[in-house]
Amino acid sequence: MEHVDTLICARWILPIEPAGEVLERHCVAIRQGRIVALLPIDQAAERYSADRRIERPSHVLLPGLVNAHTHGAMTLLRGAVEAAAYAEWTQQLQRLEQRWMDAEYVRDGAELAIADMLTSGTTCFGDLHPFPEATAHAAAAAGMRACIGLPLLDRPGLWAGSTDEYFVKGLQLHDEYRDDPLITTALAPYAHWAVSDETLKRVQRTADELELPVIMHVNEHRESALSAGERSFDRLHRLGLLSPLLMAVHVVAVQDAELDLAAREGVSIAHCPQSNLKLGCGVSPASAFIARQANLAIGTAGAAGNNDMSLLDELRTAALLARGLQPSATLPITAHQWLRAATLNGARALGLGDVIGSIAPDKWADLCCIDLNRAHTSPVHDVAAQIVYAASRDQVSDVWVAGRALLTDHQLTRLDLDDILRRAERWRQRIHGE
Ligand SMILES: [Zn+2]
Repeated sequence: MEHVDTLICARWILPIEPAGEVLERHCVAIRQGRIVALLPIDQAAERYSADRRIERPSHVLLPGLVNAHTHGAMTLLRGAVEAAAYAEWTQQLQRLEQRWMDAEYVRDGAELAIADMLTSGTTCFGDLHPFPEATAHAAAAAGMRACIGLPLLDRPGLWAGSTDEYFVKGLQLHDEYRDDPLITTALAPYAHWAVSDETLKRVQRTADELELPVIMHVNEHRESALSAGERSFDRLHRLGLLSPLLMAVHVVAVQDAELDLAAREGVSIAHCPQSNLKLGCGVSPASAFIARQANLAIGTAGAAGNNDMSLLDELRTAALLARGLQPSATLPITAHQWLRAATLNGARALGLGDVIGSIAPDKWADLCCIDLNRAHTSPVHDVAAQIVYAASRDQVSDVWVAGRALLTDHQLTRLDLDDILRRAERWRQRIHGE
């Protein structure tokens, strides 16, 4: 009999690949943080002895959700600026960040975000925020997986004073985490309009050399679809940025020819529908991306705009919105396709598609378990549809990252939630001068 560390046996398992597959009464065997096998419960009992055997008889086990785009530390300004037009919202937010942000603020905000995400089934997030070392450290300490965006701007900010300093500090952080099993990095020029041609060319050269993903806001609203009279996708194409390394975030204002171009070049899209809706930016044509076989991932964006970080909620909004905007004659995007967007597609967009995002041998055991034994998710005719259209974050019972349980029976195992909430409240008091 072969020995493994953990056997997790569940009523249903959605491995995400092969597409649309639903396994009933199967187990995932885990050794040293990685998936060893996925097999029926009776065979698992014959083949493996395990240090821990976890039974989840009314649950569905799936890959941990991947929040492709967020700004973790923005949780501290959740609800701080409301009912403002987008431009005004941005300005007020920047004023608050300029006044209060430092490494301690980012650490406390990132930890709050990590607690928010782990308790709602997310095991990996793509981040973009100043003081990225504080977010990286918070994620590593929590045992959570993260792809940390290295901010690159042409204007001085709180974290760096010049374009060169952004690159130097960012690449130092990249080196620091080069061999880390949980933390990876991406180049993150904030938005196409915020950086010069020269800086974007430097981003492209660095990304190619180090094979790093590039995270960039592209066309979050209509006004940002042009820079110096040139359509943003044309400009990014001219500068060599359109490639499978690029994850374009939002992409609300976009023309068909640009969609064709982005899809042809293999660009990933981070779709953040609740942020776009709440900030009045519009609606991204997600179904048009999927129709072009583009890699569509899902993100919550920052909690200062959204305002929570539940990818399950985001997924439902995305699915309903896409259906509502689709001509009724076309085939709807299936619940399985949406779950793939929230797992494997997110992983691919962050350069992690080979190591997480589906339940397959040799991948990291990054998993999420949802209890469907509730009045509003019974009976289960279609498990994927129950997750996308009915399940709530409160049903997420367990989360594992690299085989390590970070949420067990709805409780965080490594984070001190009371302490995190106390620190968040202290920031609120400071910001309000109390
Ligand atoms: Zn963003």
